[in-house]
Amino acid sequence: MKTAMRLGKKSLLASVLGLLGLAVQPALSEERAKDLFGAEKLPTATAAQSIGFYSKGCFAGGVAIPMDGPTWQVMRPSRNRRWGHPAMIALIEKLSRDAAADGWPGLLIGDISQPRGGPMMTGHASHQIGLDADIWLTPMPDRTMTRAQRESMSATLMVDEKTHLVKDALWTPRHTALLRRAASYPEVERILVNPGIKKKLCDTVKGDRSWLRKIRPFWGHDYHFHMRIGCQPGSPDCKAQEATPDDDGCGKPLAWWFTPEPWRPNKNPDAPKARDVMTMANLPRECRAVLGAPGPVSAEAATYHGGAVPVAVAAPEPEASPQPAATASGDGDPPSAANAFAATPRMGAPVPRPRPPAK
Ligand SMILES: [Zn+2]
Repeated sequence: MKTAMRLGKKSLLASVLGLLGLAVQPALSEERAKDLFGAEKLPTATAAQSIGFYSKGCFAGGVAIPMDGPTWQVMRPSRNRRWGHPAMIALIEKLSRDAAADGWPGLLIGDISQPRGGPMMTGHASHQIGLDADIWLTPMPDRTMTRAQRESMSATLMVDEKTHLVKDALWTPRHTALLRRAASYPEVERILVNPGIKKKLCDTVKGDRSWLRKIRPFWGHDYHFHMRIGCQPGSPDCKAQEATPDDDGCGKPLAWWFTPEPWRPNKNPDAPKARDVMTMANLPRECRAVLGAPGPVSAEAATYHGGAVPVAVAAPEPEASPQPAATASGDGDPPSAANAFAATPRMGAPVPRPRPPAK
């Protein structure tokens, strides 16, 4: 009887899912989400959409940042985590250009997201919805690194592990300028840094300090900073994070980080991490459809090449002619679904100008 009821429920669920056009895989809900999302090699070829929360979700319509640009290089390429919401990728490219103009030689890009987001096999609780990116605090070398170098080059630890203070010999005004620039974008809601770095900024930033509000102290983040943007237009199921407090965050909450408490050994070191036990049932149900959705023909087809160039995800035959840069470069473009098949991605983020031709 019980079995029959269960079967009945299951087939009802199956037909509901069937009506929704979703692939029916009875065991899916018990499967570990990180195994499924970690196995995805390509994004979905659908409209860009973040689903769920930074630490519990997935995303559709992702694009990759090219391995190299005039002002950036992607690190640890074997991880295949250079995917993000198109607005995120556009913003990283913009930051790389703006930072270069400020005197930072170029960005070394760390992990963004897996092609369809979701929890990862290793590292990161967040980075699941295409709106988080890690950027190294090491300036880009003035040569194009080989793949092997990008896998093996070690990052510079900026913070003394004992005192939790920034190593003064390493920190420069250019580091401050890079973080100030990243915090200057309205889309950027938070930047996570090691408490030592936050303290360094609190102690040294003169003039406008309003941007310090976005700089949030957190464990780790001592060789890179973590840039997080807000939910983008076209993502009704994206869950926003609460706003940061209005003040610069240099007072009591920062002082706490320089007490023994945050650094005490974990009382329960063997407790499993959320990312390791999260099943598909724990993620928003739309994430099942994300797993089942068709992908582009190749990673190259889903690689972002700037605002005025078609994002030709999975489109074997281009239908529309590229629009002139003028129509796509304004901040005020009305947000609409950044459909991957569309000639020009439309998004609520500044769209970069076309790259100057290589010299
Ligand atoms: Zn991160």
